[in-house]
Amino acid sequence: MSENKATLKKGWNFDNSYVRLPQSFYTRQDPIPVRSPEMAVLNDAFAVSLGLDPEYLKSREGLAVLAGNEVPDGAEPLAQAYAGHQFGHFTMLGDGRAVLLGEQITPEGKRVDIQLKGPGRTPYSRRGDGRAALGPMLREYIISEAMHGLGIPTTRSLAVVTTGEPVFREQELPGAILTRIAASHIRVGTFQYAANMGTSQDLRAIADYTLQRHYPEIEADDDRYLNLLRAVIKRQAGLIAQWQLVGFIHGVMNTDNMSISGETIDYGPCAFMNSFDPATVFSSIDSQGRYAYGNQPPIAAWNLSRFAESLLPLLHHDEDHAVKLAEEAISDFPGLYHGYWLDGMRSKLGIRDEEEEDETLIKDLLGMMREHRSDYTNTFRALTFDRVEDTGLSEAEQFGKWYERWKARVEAQPGSWDASHELMRSANPAVIPRNHRVEEAIEAAAKNGDYSVMERLLEALRHPYAHQESQIEYCSPPEPSERPYRTYCGT
Ligand code: AMP
Ligand code: MG
Repeated sequence: MSENKATLKKGWNFDNSYVRLPQSFYTRQDPIPVRSPEMAVLNDAFAVSLGLDPEYLKSREGLAVLAGNEVPDGAEPLAQAYAGHQFGHFTMLGDGRAVLLGEQITPEGKRVDIQLKGPGRTPYSRRGDGRAALGPMLREYIISEAMHGLGIPTTRSLAVVTTGEPVFREQELPGAILTRIAASHIRVGTFQYAANMGTSQDLRAIADYTLQRHYPEIEADDDRYLNLLRAVIKRQAGLIAQWQLVGFIHGVMNTDNMSISGETIDYGPCAFMNSFDPATVFSSIDSQGRYAYGNQPPIAAWNLSRFAESLLPLLHHDEDHAVKLAEEAISDFPGLYHGYWLDGMRSKLGIRDEEEEDETLIKDLLGMMREHRSDYTNTFRALTFDRVEDTGLSEAEQFGKWYERWKARVEAQPGSWDASHELMRSANPAVIPRNHRVEEAIEAAAKNGDYSVMERLLEALRHPYAHQESQIEYCSPPEPSERPYRTYCGT
């Protein structure tokens, strides 16, 4: 570990715009120091892409920043205010266990939030301790990096440090802090907060800020607020389609956990589906199945309706007319989502052009997969490599006919099977972060201080479409004894 400051280029390059919003949007809040920080995991390559020196981050000085013991030059730490519908109920929330250090301008000129998750109490902590346990922070690190590997927009993870302090949940657990990097942390709930708790100037301020930061191409439009709504709807439709295509279940799609930038955010009790079943729920707190796999698209539309409601005063001075505009925009969601999903499904089956009957072909396959509880990822992998016996469907009565239909469909399009197989390889991941492998990695790290299991898993997840020999051990679904699986809220 190098402690020679002269040789360490830290690389902080803050330009903080959120603090220039009206005061009601945040409270200045320094992270609360911890006893004895230690590095658990650092994303070296990602640090470099942010302009940060991994050696510096590993040094005592860098570690102090990642632990919240020191505030780096140029940072202006704050906790953000927001509200949100949690399981359908509207509440005031805010960063109860997160502090935004500031916005880093990367060497490529990108603006990203640098946020510490678990840095102690803030004015929005309510009864919480503002802290996080090591297990859930490692979980967020693994799953967010896996999502990035899959090519799905997501917040990223720069590091997890342990604090040397316990946190008390149902049991005593080691405390940790995650450094999360996001395009921003503006949520549907941020707009709900402005619309319900703020002034009309506040609402306009956050809308203008969001346009400038995430949608500059429509910022000067006459109907920019309506176009903002449309643009957010479009990004979310694309995002949710990507989730469905890889079998990702967010677990807590509350409106405060939906990012306006279109990134996947707030990894709590999320998980990837093994056997295909739209009713799959993993979260222990979702007893009604509100956020089940198959409900994610309609829930996204519901959340976007809350976003649209918040924007009403900006859409038109006549409220009835504003409502009409909002409804029209929201009514586009199902079609947009469906289009992205269908495109993605065609790719998963090696179909490179469009035919009317493709949807029936896809739905017939999914119907069989559901009935036979086939492994979602491995069935598509088996088709990709033409290993019928591995589809989990070869015994199914209808499968033979379906398989012939599918082959005929692929052959009916111009081009070769090679092109279709190529497309399938790029659309069907070999590896997803399966719960039993994620848990195994977390357990080795959190209980025994052995991070090698997690490092190997992260390596396999880095290029999920590589279909390499070394990834095969990560392809197996859990043993029946390892199911059903429950994920617990990431507090
Ligand atoms: P989440 O379920 O992680 O999206 O969090 C929902 C709300 O609870 C947010 O306002 C969080 O900041 C807050 N929260 C979660 N855990 C804690 C904690 N340990 N201490 C304080 N606030 C928390
Ligand atoms: Mg949240």
